[in-house]
Amino acid sequence: MHYLSTRNNQLKESFLNILFRGLSKDGGLFLPLEWPTISLKNLQGKSYQEVAHSIIYPYIQDDISYSDLQIIINKSYENFDHKKIAPLVNIDQNKYILELFYGPTFAFKDYALQFLGSLFSYLLNQSKKKITVLGATSGDTGSAAINAFKGKNDIEVFILHPHNNVSEVQRRQMTTVEENNIHNFAIEGTFDDCQNIVKELFVDEEIQSKTSLTAINSINWIRIIAQTVYYFWSYLQLNEEKVNFIVPSGNFGNIFSARVAKYMGLPINELHIVTNENDILHRSINTGEMKILKVKQTYSPSMDIQISSNFERQLFESSKRNSNNLNELMLSFSNDKKITIPENIVKDMQSIYKTHAVTDSEVLQTIKEFYNKYNYLSDPHTATGLNVLNKINNNIANISLACAHPAKFKNAIFDAINQEPPIPKELKNIFDKEEKMIILENNKRLVKSKILNLI
Ligand SMILES: *Cc1c(COP(=O)(O)O)cnc(C)c1O
Repeated sequence: MHYLSTRNNQLKESFLNILFRGLSKDGGLFLPLEWPTISLKNLQGKSYQEVAHSIIYPYIQDDISYSDLQIIINKSYENFDHKKIAPLVNIDQNKYILELFYGPTFAFKDYALQFLGSLFSYLLNQSKKKITVLGATSGDTGSAAINAFKGKNDIEVFILHPHNNVSEVQRRQMTTVEENNIHNFAIEGTFDDCQNIVKELFVDEEIQSKTSLTAINSINWIRIIAQTVYYFWSYLQLNEEKVNFIVPSGNFGNIFSARVAKYMGLPINELHIVTNENDILHRSINTGEMKILKVKQTYSPSMDIQISSNFERQLFESSKRNSNNLNELMLSFSNDKKITIPENIVKDMQSIYKTHAVTDSEVLQTIKEFYNKYNYLSDPHTATGLNVLNKINNNIANISLACAHPAKFKNAIFDAINQEPPIPKELKNIFDKEEKMIILENNKRLVKSKILNLI
């Protein structure tokens, strides 16, 4: 399996070459040259780990052996707190919630990042290489990455988060980790500012010449493919011909993983994209006008995003993999902060996705309603999806994704139901620990020199 870039469809890179790099040199994102298809029959009765193996193996088989991949996958999910790894809860007729918060940091990012952590360890061990992991987080990616890489000798980790713009639990999960290879930068700006700095550093020749910079943001291809696993897995728990998925979305990673599942042969009927009040995905797909507005702080900070990095992958696919087209589009988007997406692309996206934007007050109302009606407590990100699930009325199995544990977002839960969520004991002890972070201006040069000092 080889990989091209959204900005150069003639590229033909190996898996190992793209794994440690986030972006292609041309600024594009990597995608496989073709989509392998999976026989659903062969997946019946398999464990989560076995399903993961079947989904991931076709993408990496040139570089990692069948049995080594088994070992890597088993290691990745050994710290999960549920025997099914990702259990499916039947909440009402034809309505399901896929719970993705049984990893060590209580959000779905663990499902991909724990795998990435064990994959990196395995490969670095073989090559005796050292790498620098650099990433921006709107909350959950950071802690999931830190947990996956802490204490690994050959990996130095730098995570940028928007100062005062993540929940207290999210921040403490990152800043109370004691291992010396972990560095937290709180940037005085938004998540998009953090992400922009990261993107610029990845094409910065000086820093690239001094260290092997590695991306762990959701633009990293292996994260997308590791998330594809639970779409197959949840389908296999049911006995249905086809299913619908409802996906709370920010950076377009999770929903694109669902799209990949469909390319690989999973019979998905409808794919619902749900945003919060930062509704650029909803607006762009509905109207074709992709325009950045100011980022609003909402109850669901991991979705407070106006630049959805992985959206470029969808634009590329919907343009029939025309990288010239993409180059022009992305260049004018970066210059003008708005573009009109060509009609053929918009039409194609509309045929794949239904989109929704859910307000903060609807989020609170939904948390309350599910708590009273089903005795089900959801986090505010999950609640954006449940708001859509609640209104759906059809004869197909509708699966809404539960993206994080409610205990990570105490304030929202309190505002919704007037009481605090039960806190798992693993989250309790972060409140007594000392925090470690460096607060920095929103300035690429400053961040760069700090990193160069610390590696
Ligand atoms: C990351 C995250 C999202 C958004 O997912 P994307 O892949 O960025 O679209 C939603 N909810 C939670 C809890 C998250 O951590």
